[in-house]
Formats: sequence, C-alpha cells, structure tokens
Amino acid sequence: MIKIAIDGPSGSGKGTVAKEVAKRLGFTYVDTGAMYRCVSLKSLRENIDENDEEKIVELLKNIDIRLTNDGKVFMDGENVSDKIRSVEVTQRVSKISSIVKLREIMKEKQRALSNDTNIVMEGRDIATEVLPDANYKIYLDASVNERANRRYKQNIEKGINCTLEEITKAIEERDYDDMNRKVGALRRTKEHHYIDSSNMTIEEVIKEILNLVGEK
Ligand code: C5P
Repeated sequence: MIKIAIDGPSGSGKGTVAKEVAKRLGFTYVDTGAMYRCVSLKSLRENIDENDEEKIVELLKNIDIRLTNDGKVFMDGENVSDKIRSVEVTQRVSKISSIVKLREIMKEKQRALSNDTNIVMEGRDIATEVLPDANYKIYLDASVNERANRRYKQNIEKGINCTLEEITKAIEERDYDDMNRKVGALRRTKEHHYIDSSNMTIEEVIKEILNLVGEK
C-alpha cells in the first residue's frame, strides 16, 4: 500500500491539493483536521467546557465520523461539511486537539483508515506521528500574508464578513498553538519534501507532488 503524508499550517492549501492528488492517483483522501473539527463541533453542541478533557475524550469514543473522497464529512450520520468550518468550531479546535489522550485515540483511528488502501492523508502530525512509515512525506507551507489573503478572499466569496487583520491574527494564533503543543505539534523535519506554495498555483503544487511520486 502507498501512503502519502501531507503536513502544513492552516491555509497552506493542503486540503485542496491533497484531495486532488488523491483523485488523480485513485487513492483514498483523509482530512484529519476534519476529524478534530467534528469533536470540536460536538463539544459545542453538548455545551462541554473546552477545558473538560475527560468529557471531550468520552465524546470521541462515541462519535461516528465518516469522510468521503470528495471531502464531505459526516458526523453521526449528519452532513457537517460546512458546520465544522464555522468560526466557533475553528476557535476551539486547537485547544481540543492539544488533549494528549484524545490525540492517542485519534491517531489509532487515522492509522486504521490507512490499513488496506492507498492513501493521501493531510494534517499536522501525519509524517511524524500518524504514518511515520509513509512512502512520501510533504510539508506544504506558505507565508502568513499569503495564507491570510487566500482565506480572506474565500470568506468574501462566501459572504462571510471579516477583515484581513482579523484573519491574519487568527492564523498567527492557530500557528502558534499548533506548533507549540506538547504532543503532535506541527513540525517540519528533514524527511519532509518541503514546498513553499506562496508563489505557486494549486496546479503547480499538485504537479510537484505527482512528479515526486512518479520519480520514485
Ligand atoms: O487542517 P485544519 O485547519 O482543518 O485543522 C483544524 C485543526 O485541527 C488544526 O488547527 C489543529 O489544531 C488540529 N489538527 C491536529 N492534527 C492534525 C490535523 C488537525 O491537531 N493532524
């Protein structure tokens, strides 16, 4: 089985790129961030305090998460693809994903998904923790300004009211949290093939990954 791990900060284009690479190769696509977002959404709905680690871990044990290859996300049978991207869910997801016990369970769930299929899995700790035996490890990056601009444009297109300053601040905060938590932090390693997409189109990034896979 072939495993492609793609790590990187929020807004680096991981989602779009990983989904398309999986599609072109005929591989299964897994968005691990969506799995953490489901726990965040469910904890909000059940009014669980974000500091109540025990209750949040219990939630994960009783949650049914299904991901489709075209990027849809189902939680307990409900299509939550848009709901897990809300500001509220995003605001608490870094906190939720810093719970050590929760990450252990999540890691097992994510590994199990790669058991008997070729896979493209994207997240923060895929090459380092979840699939350390991945055949290809990619770190997809972009400058904070570029990532903020992209997110800002997406929001405006969707009719979400925001300023570029707010988006930049939120991205910097999430970067800090994701890179500085004790377990499963976003870390660029020597094993990662590094791609800075700041001045690249999505298609150029996809081609670079497909070339890498084709070369080996
Ligand atoms: O990729 P996305 O922005 O949807 O991820 C949402 C959040 O989930 C991240 O900010 C991070 O805190 C968490 N996450 C994680 N480990 C992963 C994927 C996502 O901790 N492998």
